[in-house]
Amino acid sequence: MHIAVIGAGLGGLAAAVAADRAGHTVTVLERAPAPREAGAGIAIMPNGVLALDALGVGEPVRAQACAGDTGGGMRDRHGNPLLTTELATVRERAGAPLVVVRRSWLHRLLLDALAPGIVLTASPVKQLRDAGDHVELRTGGGPVHADAVVVADGARSALRSALLPRHPGLQGSGEFAARAIAPAAPAGVALPVGELIDHRTGDRFGCFPLADGGVYWFSSSHEPAPADPAERHRWLRERRSGWHPATVGLIEATAPDAVHVVETAQLVRPLPTLVKGRVALLGDAAHAMTPDLGQGACQAFEDAATLGAVLDRVGPADVPAALREYDAVRRPRTASVQRECRRVHRLLGLTGWRGRLRDTALRLVPSGLAVRSLAAQYRFDIRSSVPA
Ligand SMILES: Cc1cc2nc3c(=O)[nH]c(=O)nc-3n(C[C@H](O)[C@H](O)[C@H](O)COP(=O)(O)OP(=O)(O)OC[C@H]3O[C@@H](n4cnc5c(N)ncnc54)[C@H](O)[C@@H]3O)c2cc1C
Repeated sequence: MHIAVIGAGLGGLAAAVAADRAGHTVTVLERAPAPREAGAGIAIMPNGVLALDALGVGEPVRAQACAGDTGGGMRDRHGNPLLTTELATVRERAGAPLVVVRRSWLHRLLLDALAPGIVLTASPVKQLRDAGDHVELRTGGGPVHADAVVVADGARSALRSALLPRHPGLQGSGEFAARAIAPAAPAGVALPVGELIDHRTGDRFGCFPLADGGVYWFSSSHEPAPADPAERHRWLRERRSGWHPATVGLIEATAPDAVHVVETAQLVRPLPTLVKGRVALLGDAAHAMTPDLGQGACQAFEDAATLGAVLDRVGPADVPAALREYDAVRRPRTASVQRECRRVHRLLGLTGWRGRLRDTALRLVPSGLAVRSLAAQYRFDIRSSVPA
């Protein structure tokens, strides 16, 4: 059976690995001239690691986990704990570590899991036509026929809008995230691993050590950063002045042009379906969400693992039924993560007295309760989610 995947981001590549492992012929069509992944680092939550296990690429990811994974949770801007969630305890309860890696490394890992020739670059897909017993794709070159199609063309998916024209699509959150990897932690300062938040402005800063000695950091604000790299660097340092010294230290240790800034975004509401006949939506195309829970790519990995399970040893005639099963498993899960993400985004965006009240409430949450609730969110077991 031939499965075409549209988009070679983390989601599309994971879907291609899943379809390949399920015994099908796979083609990935990517519009960019070369496969690439921008945005510095990424946190793979335990459920993402468990999903990558199901795709057969979990081992090298687990090997990137930092050994002394202490810290985690939320802190105030000075680094004083608000909500403590020891990463080591979360790892124990969830059955997998939280792993932070370079995006380029993860992208390469998935690319290398596919045989050469599977990913076709400079191949934009312009249109899909479901012909009943197959799907026809109009690309920059000639038409491509497939028995099943996975649409993984990202948050701004043009194909999603064509498939579901009545859905309102994507909305910006009004929050801008700067991300980068510092070559090393600043000397003489303990790294406040996890996320720092300022109740005065709603600004946030996060930092996570990488296995190779680098440190992934992000800095978010409700004001857009200047476009010029040098000016932006100065602006970022000024915004973090008076915060925990590691924040400014990490910004200073990073080259100005190594900082990526985007406005975060989410779907206005969950999609009414992730499937149309022989076509399935996956990753940000299916459930774009703000990064507040670090779940965007993790949900794409869960999608891919589920897709691999429902398409395992399936023939062309069974594709619509298999994809309906994918929709039945994935839609409730991803809709619930999207709702939780919105709730957390609103909570973390509170400022003034509301922000102070939030901080007080966070301090009162027992660490054990926080860890239990995170571990529940991080559960992923392909055997129990897809009937055999
Ligand atoms: C600031 C920030 C921090 C984040 N942090 C985390 C985190 O810590 N953990 C986490 O799990 N997630 C995180 N995310 C979310 C995560 O980055 C995304 O969910 C994930 O990268 C989406 O992958 P994707 O493959 O679905 O889409 P994309 O990465 O957008 O890939 C889509 C691909 O499709 C291609 N394409 C588009 N249109 C076409 C077409 N017509 N034909 C062919 N190809 C096409 C594009 O060129 C692109 O390569 C974060 C996001 C942001 C913005």
